[in-house]
Amino acid sequence: GADVALSHVKEAGRNNFHFYTGEMNAHALRWMSLEVHLRHAVERNELRLYFQPQVSLADGRVTGVEALLRWQSAELGMIPPGDFIPLAEDSGLILDIGTWVIEEACRQMKAWHAKGLPPMTVAVNVSARQFATGTVPAVVRKALRDNGVAPRWLEVELTESVMMHDSDHTQMQLNELAAMGVSISLDDFGTGYSSLGYLSRFRLDKLKIDQTFVKNITTDPRSAAIARATTALAHGLNLIVVAEGVETEGQLAFLRDMGCDKIQGYLFSRPLPVDELSVLLLEQRMLAVVAVPPSVTRT
Ligand code: C2E
Ligand code: MG
Ligand code: MG
Ligand code: MG
Repeated sequence: GADVALSHVKEAGRNNFHFYTGEMNAHALRWMSLEVHLRHAVERNELRLYFQPQVSLADGRVTGVEALLRWQSAELGMIPPGDFIPLAEDSGLILDIGTWVIEEACRQMKAWHAKGLPPMTVAVNVSARQFATGTVPAVVRKALRDNGVAPRWLEVELTESVMMHDSDHTQMQLNELAAMGVSISLDDFGTGYSSLGYLSRFRLDKLKIDQTFVKNITTDPRSAAIARATTALAHGLNLIVVAEGVETEGQLAFLRDMGCDKIQGYLFSRPLPVDELSVLLLEQRMLAVVAVPPSVTRT
């Protein structure tokens, strides 16, 4: 959790701490210090998007990527999102950061299109705090328009907590995104507090089975049962099913057998910096041209 980044901060900022006395506890101090660093991170351009492929089990092709935030701090080193997203949410910095993520994803799509890479969806994670502002559709529309990207290539990932929180307000924004042609994906399914009612009320396109179920799918019959039932439920609602955190061939075989549509996980690829992803996609395109008949390559 946050302790990893916080201990970095403690080291990097040790000299800044001595003038504080016992009035504030050390944890609060480190948290504050991290917030200052994070504020600078945005200004100093220290945020990066990494991209993790999603692979279709029907034909083994990469159909899209998920954009995952990384903070490459000059002072603190590489900080994973689990260590700073909670802080970004608490402090409200997630609003600027979240807008940057959407814009950067669209800029990247524009660059890929310009390079002639096959089009694919790019999924961005959007937090409850962003939906609370009511501006998500406007931010998305502007980013797409500024970069000349068609809405169908953008996907918004949200968690069950987003739907719980002021659900009418969220529902309106999701409807607006859907009307634009942006697709909506429900992330980490099964780990939140949502009711099945949300699945019928909200206009979703995809459901992502959380990695905690995938992790144990071959060893724990209950995880397997949940994954299987979730897949059936999602397919009954015409949703595409994506399994997250697929690490082994055994998990892959199980998921394929279960009828899962797509996988995302270290087995195929870790989240990659943009240059490495481009290499992977170019290789795939060459393989497709050489090895696969044209009828199969059409999506
Ligand atoms: P998530 O959206 O559920 O993303 C999937 C996480 O699982 C990513 O962690 C990814 O690196 C990791 N993962 C993928 N495949 C595997 C695997 O095979 N094994 C294991 N053990 N892990 C795998 P990451 O990049 O550390 O991101 C963690 C969470 O931080 C994300 O979970 C998401 O909730 C949040 N996050 C990341 N980027 C953003 C962002 O731009 N905005 C917001 N609001 N949240 C973000
Ligand atoms: Mg996600
Ligand atoms: Mg997830
Ligand atoms: Mg997650």
